[in-house]
Amino acid sequence: MIAQAYRCALCPRRCGAVRTEREGYGVCGLGTLPRVAKAMLHVGEEPPLIKGAGSGAVFFAGCTLNCVFCQNAQISANPNAGQACTPSRLAETFKSLEEQGASNINLVSGTPHVLAIISALELYKPSVPVVWNSSGYETVETIKLLAPYVDVWLPDLKYADDSLAALLSGADNYKETALSAITLMREISGEAAFNEDGAMTRGTIIRHLVLPHHVRNSVDVLNLISTRFPRTHLSLMGQFTPCHMSAKFGLSDKLSLAAWRVVKNHRAALRLDEGWNQPPTASGTNMIPVWNAKD
Ligand code: SF4
Repeated sequence: MIAQAYRCALCPRRCGAVRTEREGYGVCGLGTLPRVAKAMLHVGEEPPLIKGAGSGAVFFAGCTLNCVFCQNAQISANPNAGQACTPSRLAETFKSLEEQGASNINLVSGTPHVLAIISALELYKPSVPVVWNSSGYETVETIKLLAPYVDVWLPDLKYADDSLAALLSGADNYKETALSAITLMREISGEAAFNEDGAMTRGTIIRHLVLPHHVRNSVDVLNLISTRFPRTHLSLMGQFTPCHMSAKFGLSDKLSLAAWRVVKNHRAALRLDEGWNQPPTASGTNMIPVWNAKD
């Protein structure tokens, strides 16, 4: 399925860039051979995703967003991070994580690599659920390509305010793009399902990270979720840690407890009861994988 070279429209930027195996001339700068920055058993995900030995996370280099506060900027902002990986090598990575006891295969920021990922999943379909861990900035065409291969959708809904999305993530039309993608994910996944150990085997979990000084955005995001996806699992995250270029954009502090309570209480008032709250004290940079460590 992976082509030698193609003009790319895999993400909402639809930049039409030529991508060869090793080089990309698009906004993301990525070639068609995916680069894996790290593959590891990861316990920094939501409870139904870390049963057994943890989530089998595969972190891909590069990203279709440019979030100034990205905690993984070392790999997301560097299209040359990690190792180039053929689909067969990627399939071996999935198998290895499964053999180590991973309760799922968790594909993190895979959008620019979707064709190679599908080729890998054609070569080896894991017996554990496949999780699509995404910024939410996806085209419906790409979600449709992935539909036969993904069991659990894990999208962010970062912004209800397009001007904030443009400022902090360099993304146009984020709100409607993400809402359309999540609507389709929900249709595909249906209601959440769990196995006897409590691991999610099918479903959608929406994540939202509360940004310091942007409580209004978070309240509006919760209102959107209440209207559009009221019974969907929600992971509300307050553990913002200043990273990357965040200080230049007024995000130099952790989230205050007062701001967190406003958002958390609004969630409760909307009766968005499915899911989890991760308060500001939950973690800091300690949950960020060490990218240059040996596996
Ligand atoms: S994935 Fe990369 S090359 Fe493809 S449309 Fe998006 S930014 Fe452009």
